[in-house]
Amino acid sequence: MAKTRRKKVKARVSSTADRASSRSTKLVQSKKPAKTVAGRASAPTHVYFFGTGKADGDRSMRDLLGGKGAGLAEMTNAGLPVPPGFTITTEACNLYYANNCSIPSAVDGEMLDRLRQLEKAVGASFGSESRPLLLSVRSGARFSMPGMMDTILNLGLNDATVEALGRQTNNGRFAYDSYRRFIQMFGNVVLEISKDDFEETLNDVKREHGVILDTDLSEEALRRVVAKYKDLVLQKTSQGFPTKPLQQLRLARDAVFRSWNNPRAKEYRRIYDIPDEIGTAVNVQLMVFGNTGDRSATGVGFTRNPATGDKEFYGEFLINAQGEDVVAGIRTPQPIAELERIMPAAYKQLRRITSRLERHYKDLQDFEFTIQDEQLFMLQTRSGKRTGLAAIRIATDLVDERLVSTTGALKLIDPVALVQLLAPVFDPDEWARIPVATKGLPASPGAASGQVVFTAEEAVRWADLGKRVVLVRKETVPDDIHGMYVAEGVLTATGGMTSHAAVVGRQMGKPSVVGAGAVQIDEKAKQLEVLDQVLREGDAISFDGLTGEVKVGLVASQPSEILQVVTGNLAKETSDVFQRFERVMRWADRVKRLGVRANADQPDQAEIARAFGARGIGLCRTEHMFFGEGRVQIVQRMILAETEAERRKELRALLPLQRADFYGVFKAMGGEPVTIRTIDPPLHEFLPKREDLLVEIAVLEMKKKKRSSPLLARKRRLLRRVEQLHEFNPMLGHRGVRLGISYPEITEMQTRAIIEAAVQLAQEGLKVVPEIMIPLVGDVRELRDQKAVVDRVAETVMAEQGVSVKYLVGTMIEVPRGAVTAGEIAAEADFFSFGTNDLTQMVFGFSRDDSAKFLKEYQARKLIERDPFASLDTTGVGALVEMGVRLGREAKPNLKVGICGEHGGDPASVRFFDAVGLDYVSASPYRVPVARLAAAQSALDLEVAD
Ligand code: PEP
Ligand code: MG
Repeated sequence: MAKTRRKKVKARVSSTADRASSRSTKLVQSKKPAKTVAGRASAPTHVYFFGTGKADGDRSMRDLLGGKGAGLAEMTNAGLPVPPGFTITTEACNLYYANNCSIPSAVDGEMLDRLRQLEKAVGASFGSESRPLLLSVRSGARFSMPGMMDTILNLGLNDATVEALGRQTNNGRFAYDSYRRFIQMFGNVVLEISKDDFEETLNDVKREHGVILDTDLSEEALRRVVAKYKDLVLQKTSQGFPTKPLQQLRLARDAVFRSWNNPRAKEYRRIYDIPDEIGTAVNVQLMVFGNTGDRSATGVGFTRNPATGDKEFYGEFLINAQGEDVVAGIRTPQPIAELERIMPAAYKQLRRITSRLERHYKDLQDFEFTIQDEQLFMLQTRSGKRTGLAAIRIATDLVDERLVSTTGALKLIDPVALVQLLAPVFDPDEWARIPVATKGLPASPGAASGQVVFTAEEAVRWADLGKRVVLVRKETVPDDIHGMYVAEGVLTATGGMTSHAAVVGRQMGKPSVVGAGAVQIDEKAKQLEVLDQVLREGDAISFDGLTGEVKVGLVASQPSEILQVVTGNLAKETSDVFQRFERVMRWADRVKRLGVRANADQPDQAEIARAFGARGIGLCRTEHMFFGEGRVQIVQRMILAETEAERRKELRALLPLQRADFYGVFKAMGGEPVTIRTIDPPLHEFLPKREDLLVEIAVLEMKKKKRSSPLLARKRRLLRRVEQLHEFNPMLGHRGVRLGISYPEITEMQTRAIIEAAVQLAQEGLKVVPEIMIPLVGDVRELRDQKAVVDRVAETVMAEQGVSVKYLVGTMIEVPRGAVTAGEIAAEADFFSFGTNDLTQMVFGFSRDDSAKFLKEYQARKLIERDPFASLDTTGVGALVEMGVRLGREAKPNLKVGICGEHGGDPASVRFFDAVGLDYVSASPYRVPVARLAAAQSALDLEVAD
């Protein structure tokens, strides 16, 4: 079993690198078997057609066609009303980059073939002055990246085709509205002219004609806008607007490929760990128009509420508009229920289709549609992003509706989203005391309270200074992503539930309220007005992302509902969310193979961890107990002791305190295994800083009279000891097992405290098997030395008490030499626990405490994919983990092996640990549910792979 797992992990670990390195050659010779469409000679290579009821691709081809392309193909195959078109693959995107940002002629040729096919399918032709074919050109990567890349609509228009469109539809206003939108989008995306320049021009014409809304502009006014836009293009580019449709298409296609690497798309990928190499597809599709008049509309929606998970048809639309208007958040759209009143037939069809899609994909769907003269078209469907709350509710509802099995439901929940469920909420009394200033749309749940900032840049700057900020914007744009990321929450004045702020807020699990129209924002003056109050940058504001309420002032928050149940402050029966959470966790436990423990040092932490489902403590850092009230002074005296006898005296004072701690932790875990680590950090960490002591001494010396006070003498002694203990490289210095070797009396005291606590509990009827863990072992002789101390003291205590308890002695594997010589070490150890924090530090040679300074740059320059202290570097550090497990188990087949570094709560790392056959992972208490679900998902994947 372990062998199979190991093989798989290798395959998985190397697959990304392989994909990246072999990409260029593989693509050119791509021999991917492709389905052929009846009646067509050649199989698609880089351009896949969909239309007339059949598509070259299907839902399984998301890697190649992107999420949107695969969805369009699948919907076409299902006979749904999808405007026909073709998808230029993600591989073509990579070829574009490999070929110096130009598309190889073979791919271009294939695109022309599909274009001809499209013309035939729809009976229109590109550039025709009687029946012109007009297209949309949209990005679509494997993973959805809302608003991060570019889109161009109405492509194919020029001075001649616009007239034809007007004649054809008998609607010149619509034709010119489409034309001005096209020049605007193309001008911005392809010709890189600022959006503001176009907006200014549009506003000038609006003013000239005395109108406020775009929709009030007459045909004549729109003709004027078009003329002015063309002048603007000429002035900015010194070339006229490209008039040949084919040239427009090629330029648009390439610009969408280029938008894969625009700064916001890159930043988005960095935040969400989306690989840079996968590229985007480009979807070229027959235009359908939501802007032909009042019988047309465009909208987006979800088959269930993505914020709360409620089973309600959810979304919004705009009459007489094109897709960009909805997501851009410029006009606040109407709720989708209104559509039933305005266009009942189209609404009914939309509901029928989207319910069918949800049943087909067996998941919440996020869809886009356009209604052209009351005829419905589907433009996209995909699994919708959702909050942690919605994830739990939808998964449990889908099981109850018998749409998915319990294991299927587990795959629908992002483990990290569970953290949102444990996030704090406002204290209801405090919240009730402050009047509601205004109410916006509740876009993403959670309590946000902080100081107002008006730009993403300010948000980052203030957050870097340790301040809690709320980002307040008229509307957010994709460029704001870095500010949203650091803010406590995001509040916007315009935009709907599917505006950028709402979509991204939900995805980040960031509390968000959008469309709070009563908030008047002056971003330049850095102030907002609400309810006759003026708030400037730095003033306090709070809002609740679940209700949409906004209040002026700071409000204290309180633990989430789940935490309240867990801590016994709320009855489980009254909490729907807790019950669902518990069901999901039970399903996860049924399938997972890996054990999940927690890192906890105090009885209260241990209790929470156990309530979250930790089955044991994987790491109890005993030194954390030394910092408790009244303790650090004893520890300091112990460190200052000049003789062993003095040191032992102080250790005797610490003994009852440690014993009480261990007793509490053992009891809280009710007999589950508890791993207690002997002292680890360098001793100077328990002493004051040298600089602080120097200042204190100087101040005391200045008060001349007290020149020889006992206080001054103590401070000087402390300073001397601090200087003696000074190390140039404390992380590689006198710490871990090395301390136990120098001061065995510390190990003795800790062992005594552990065994005495276990004996006491045994006498009370609770059987505990303490696991005593020695840190930082690199050589078996170090472990042997400390094990001898532990065994000797344990024997003595048991003899004294007349009670014998079982205990284990093991080691952390966190020094590279420990992993390499794991076979020798295993002979002396009952268990291993990988300390992947130190192991990462030592394998990379990156300081745990200083690497943040340069890792950002490493990530930006792609010298490293992810922060290796957050997500395990499976290639390097992982290879040592794998080696340690293998060598250890070869020497001792039943060796118990776990991991207790921070990686124990990171889903990707958990998968790796499962695959290399560890027995358990140990995570911080709040990450325990994440680890349980990640372990279950990993087990389900392994089963599939088997
Ligand atoms: C580790 O190094 O991974 C570990 C758990 O120990 P610490 O973080 O306390 O050094
Ligand atoms: Mg460590």
